[in-house]
Amino acid sequence: MGQDSIIKIRDLRTSFFTQNMEVRAVDGVTFDVPKGKTLGVVGESGSGKSITAMSILKLIQNPGKIVGGEIEFKGEDLTKKSEGAMRKIRGNEISMIFQEPMTSLNPVYTVGQQIGESFRIHEKLSKKEALAKSIDMLKLVGIPSPEKRVHQYPFELSGGMRQRVMIAMALACNPELLIADEPTTALDVTIQAQILELMKDLQDRLGMSIIMITHDLGVVAETCDYVAVMYCGKVVEYASVNELFSNPRHPYTVGLLESLP
Ligand code: ADP
Ligand code: MG
Repeated sequence: MGQDSIIKIRDLRTSFFTQNMEVRAVDGVTFDVPKGKTLGVVGESGSGKSITAMSILKLIQNPGKIVGGEIEFKGEDLTKKSEGAMRKIRGNEISMIFQEPMTSLNPVYTVGQQIGESFRIHEKLSKKEALAKSIDMLKLVGIPSPEKRVHQYPFELSGGMRQRVMIAMALACNPELLIADEPTTALDVTIQAQILELMKDLQDRLGMSIIMITHDLGVVAETCDYVAVMYCGKVVEYASVNELFSNPRHPYTVGLLESLP
């Protein structure tokens, strides 16, 4: 694997400092994401999945901070990058999708304005060109009647459609790495399956690498190539999905598999 990884994380540690106490939210995370593959990060609520994702993008704010480890992205350590440099990486090379599309979409802008913003900034397109590209993106993520939807506001869309818009926004910059933090948890089951199907299909067509964060091993089985199991802030097991399901090594993973229906 080694050299063909888009990102290599080594012993990442992130803490929150409150009332002179250090709470170690991420306490030794090590994994690679092989290029063009999907890594699942699985673990129960509070195990440090989201803080790991936010640490990669350096979105952790006071009183939290990264206290150790390395995040090697395309040969450079992100933990050493300035906020200015990170802003460029966030807008161009690594995108993130969050769990709740309603809180991440801006209610006062239309779908087209929000997707188009990314094109206008990064590709210096005119309004008209950005609108046309936004419609293309809506088509890509399978939204019906994109010419109409592009002028609508988030509240006019269903939850599943809003998540599709979030995916379109995340893909607008053509990222090399997409981090999806529980992208289907807030959706009902049939819509969940459609969104996962869409993400798999997009990866086949666009070839980006994905970190898929989930508390659901079923999602891992369906969408991932590799998996990192998190427990109490640590990655306790890292394996290919086949290996993990056929030969789990860590007791926590064994328990997790036994609890599957
Ligand atoms: P997950 O995404 O796996 O559910 P998180 O990464 O959100 O878990 O959180 C991991 C741990 O980090 C939590 O259990 C909590 O103890 C700690 N944590 C997260 N955010 C904060 C915060 N703002 N202040 C203090 N501790 C936090
Ligand atoms: Mg989380």
